[in-house]
Amino acid sequence: MKINGLKFGVIGGGIGGIAAALALQQRGAQVTVFEQAAELTEVGAGLQISENGMVVLRALNVVGDTPEAGLRSYGTVLRDYRAGRSVSEIPAPAAGSTYYFHRADLLGLLHKAALREGVEFRLGAQVAQVHKHPSDAEIVLEDGTRFSADCVIAADGGRSQIRADLNGPEAPEFTHQVAWRATIPWARRDLKPCAVLTMGPGRHVVTYPLRDHTLMNIVAIEERSDWQEEGWNRRGDPEDLRARFSDFGGLVGEILEQVQEPNIWALFLRPVAQTWQNERIALLGDAAHPTLPFMAQGACLALEDACVLARAFDDQSGIQQALEMYESRRRSRAKKVVATAGANARNFHLRGPMRLAAQAALMAIGPRLSRKYEWIYSYDATA
Ligand SMILES: Cc1cc2nc3c(=O)[nH]c(=O)nc-3n(C[C@H](O)[C@H](O)[C@H](O)COP(=O)(O)OP(=O)(O)OC[C@H]3O[C@@H](n4cnc5c(N)ncnc54)[C@H](O)[C@@H]3O)c2cc1C
Repeated sequence: MKINGLKFGVIGGGIGGIAAALALQQRGAQVTVFEQAAELTEVGAGLQISENGMVVLRALNVVGDTPEAGLRSYGTVLRDYRAGRSVSEIPAPAAGSTYYFHRADLLGLLHKAALREGVEFRLGAQVAQVHKHPSDAEIVLEDGTRFSADCVIAADGGRSQIRADLNGPEAPEFTHQVAWRATIPWARRDLKPCAVLTMGPGRHVVTYPLRDHTLMNIVAIEERSDWQEEGWNRRGDPEDLRARFSDFGGLVGEILEQVQEPNIWALFLRPVAQTWQNERIALLGDAAHPTLPFMAQGACLALEDACVLARAFDDQSGIQQALEMYESRRRSRAKKVVATAGANARNFHLRGPMRLAAQAALMAIGPRLSRKYEWIYSYDATA
C-alpha cells in the first residue's frame, strides 16, 4: 500500500520508537513521536549492538560503515570469578562485528537522523489512552490533548500500558535476579575492546569499554529475592555491590572497586505478548517482547522490528494487513531470541561441580560458540 502521507503516532522515544519513526518517515509517512520524558536523555550505560542491529542502523543512515560513536568488539572473553582466570574466548561473529555504544550516544544519533527526515517529537507528552475508531486511531495525552493518526505504534517499553490495553492485565514473574549497572572513568587502551563475562556461583558480571575507551561499562547480576523494585533509575549502594561481589578478583575486582554510583533493579519476566496488533495499533520492541539482558539483544530486536514494520507497508493493501504481516514476520524470531536469553541466566550462574564441568566444556567449544548464535547475528531485517 502507499504509505505516502499516512499519519503515524509513535508512543515512546526509546531506541525502538525512534527507529520505527525514522523507518516509517523515510518511506513517506508523516510521524509524530510522543515521549513522556521532558528530554531524550538516557542514564549512562552501554549497549552492545550486534550485526543484526547494525545492519538496520546502516540501512536507516544512522551510522556509516565504521561508526565513530561505537567501539568495534573483538569478541567475548569468559572468565572465572576468583582470580579472573580465562575460561574461553569467543571470537567476533562471522556475520560481522558487534559495536559498543553509550546508550545516550546511540539515542542521540537516532534522534538526529529522525529530525533530519522531518519526524516531529513531542516531549513531556505522556500518553494516557489510545482509542481505535473505524477511520483513525486517537492518542489521548494525560493533559487531555488529542491526536488523530491512521496508525499508532506503541514502543512504550517493557511495562507498556498499550500492551496491557491489548492483552489485559498480566502479572510479571520475578526472576529472583537483581541487576546492577554502572560506568566508571577508564583510561586503559592496552586491552582490545572485548566484552568480559565473569561467571561465579549465582552471579555474573559483564564489562566492556565505551566512548573510545574513556568509560568502562559494568552490568552485574546476582540471584537474590529481597529486592523487587523494577525501575531502571534507582540508585544502589556501591559498598553493598562490592560486598556482594567481594570474591570476584582479577581485573573485574579492580573495576568494581571504582564504582561510585550504581543503579539497581529487579529483573522480571513477561512473556512475548499474545496480541501484538489490533487493526490500527501495534506493539514494538520491549512492549511486544521484553527480554532478559543475557543475550544483549533487546535493542537489536527493537531495531529489527522497526525495519520489518516499515517494510510490511510496501507489501500489503491496507494498514491492518501490514500490521498482521509485521507480526507474522516477527513473532517466532522474537520468541526464539527471548527464550535463548532466558536459558543463559542458568548457564552463567552454575555452582559446584556443575560449574567446573560447564567450564571444561566451554574451554573445549568456546571458539566455536559464536557459531551457535550465528542465526541471531546473521539475520538481516533489511533483506
Ligand atoms: C542491563 C541491561 C543491559 C542491556 N544491554 C543490551 C545490549 O547490550 N544490547 C541490546 O540490544 N539490548 C540491551 N538491553 C535491552 C534494551 O535496553 C531494551 O530492549 C531496549 O532499550 C528496548 O527499547 P524500547 O524502545 O522498546 O523500550 P524503552 O527503551 O524502554 O523505551 C520506551 C520509551 O517509552 C516511553 N514511555 C513509556 N510509557 C509512555 C507513555 N505512556 N507515554 C509516552 N512515553 C512513554 C519511556 O519513557 C521510554 O523512553 C539491555 C537491557 C538492560 C536492562
